[in-house]
Amino acid sequence: MHCVVVGGGLAGLASAVWLSEAGHRVTLLERRGSLGGRTIAMPVAAVDDVPDNGQHVFASGYQHLMRYLDSVGTRKYVEFPGHMTIRLPGGGTRVSAFGGVAGLRAAFGDLPGVTGLDRLRTARAQITLIRQAIRQPAWLDDITADDWFRRIKMPQSARDALWDGIVIGLTGDKPDITSAKVPADLLVTGIRRARETKTPISIGYPTVDLNTLFVDGAEKLFADAGVDIRYRAVVSAVDVAGGAVVGVTLVDGERVSADAVICAVPVWSVRGLLDQVPEHERIYAAIEQLTPVPIVSVNLYLDRSIGMADWGEILLGGEGTLEQVWDRQRMHGRDASRHHLYSTTVSAAYELTNKTNTEITDIQMNQLRRYFPGAAHAEVVHSHVVRMPKSTFAQRPGTAGIRPDQRTSVQGLALAGDWTRTDWTTTMEGACQSAARAVEVILEHARRFDARL
Ligand SMILES: Cc1cc2nc3c(=O)[nH]c(=O)nc-3n(C[C@H](O)[C@H](O)[C@H](O)COP(=O)(O)OP(=O)(O)OC[C@H]3O[C@@H](n4cnc5c(N)ncnc54)[C@H](O)[C@@H]3O)c2cc1C
Repeated sequence: MHCVVVGGGLAGLASAVWLSEAGHRVTLLERRGSLGGRTIAMPVAAVDDVPDNGQHVFASGYQHLMRYLDSVGTRKYVEFPGHMTIRLPGGGTRVSAFGGVAGLRAAFGDLPGVTGLDRLRTARAQITLIRQAIRQPAWLDDITADDWFRRIKMPQSARDALWDGIVIGLTGDKPDITSAKVPADLLVTGIRRARETKTPISIGYPTVDLNTLFVDGAEKLFADAGVDIRYRAVVSAVDVAGGAVVGVTLVDGERVSADAVICAVPVWSVRGLLDQVPEHERIYAAIEQLTPVPIVSVNLYLDRSIGMADWGEILLGGEGTLEQVWDRQRMHGRDASRHHLYSTTVSAAYELTNKTNTEITDIQMNQLRRYFPGAAHAEVVHSHVVRMPKSTFAQRPGTAGIRPDQRTSVQGLALAGDWTRTDWTTTMEGACQSAARAVEVILEHARRFDARL
């Protein structure tokens, strides 16, 4: 079959790779001049470097993403060190891990800044939280994560130390916005994967830039397999005739015919593309409710080391200004003779995103100096601020089950992308799992297609 994949982010890349592995002829249409979507490296001439658009971390349950890395030959570039560090103002640190002694201590409420009776209250609230996440009471999707924490009497100190950060990390959005069901579902997915693989949940990171990790291997595979990649090809409609997909139309009016199509554009680009799909009104109504969340990432090139204790550190109390710092020397084995690169992340950065680059850099340098004694006299060599107003999407209360399935009512048409229905929220794994499911729909169609020939 001739399969057209629309969109060259992770969902589209994985779809194109797996369809071509299955022996189909593939054309990949990408609106931009390069592949990678929201996971890319960007050249910064001022420092002659190619940093990422933002730190991307992996969870140990990312099985479809790992399958993609196996396909493109880059799995060797992901490490799971099994720990991160929590840093307190003034420079104190505490290793954080889900397994081993640190995990056990956390389970008993022994978290940084949680003292006295609050430890007992934390341990009790955590048991209730896990139990409710597993049992999934119907009201979970009626309330926010913030309401949930209040309901189970999670002490504020434990929220500051761990739980608010987990919600922001897992859902990409603030606890007072996101539906409680989103972190609950993710906890259950994580626990299930940990049981299946018999390994504790842990967080990992790429040891190379995102282009090397996701794009270069795919491009080589496409060249070898004869996949036709068309850049700056903006699709305006998926074409349907007699209940089956027949191709796509580009904005300049060109038609590309196809036996099968996977539409892997992000949620904010879907409207208009699916007008000929019978259920398009339901899909468009759903996407209205998946609202964009901004992330601000900064690649800070400093004149010296700030003395990080770990590859990634979560700053306790840094919400909204400087939540996580990543040591690119340690992670990528970078040569630090010219400068030291620290990448920073602020999720759900609704306020920070409206500030100027200078303001953002000043705010973050002040925070670094508060938390890292080694940063006291550090000077900024260059600051590369990346604002992405549409980084991830929020799922507010009342949105459970609205994300559409990969399968459509149109023969030969499947949807993919982190916003379609998966076991995950807006993540790289969600994108790859959606691709695996979309490809499965198309392969089923191919079997019927073969039978007709
Ligand atoms: C700063 C940042 C940090 C993140 N951190 C993490 C993290 O730590 N862990 C994690 O798991 N996830 C993280 N994410 C989320 C993750 O990057 C995304 O969920 C994932 O990359 C989405 O992939 P996708 O293929 O669904 O969409 P996209 O990557 O958005 O790809 C869609 C592609 O479709 C193209 N397109 C759009 N419209 C058209 C059209 N009409 N015609 C042709 N092409 C079109 C776009 O140009 C784009 O290339 C982060 C995201 C950001 C931005």
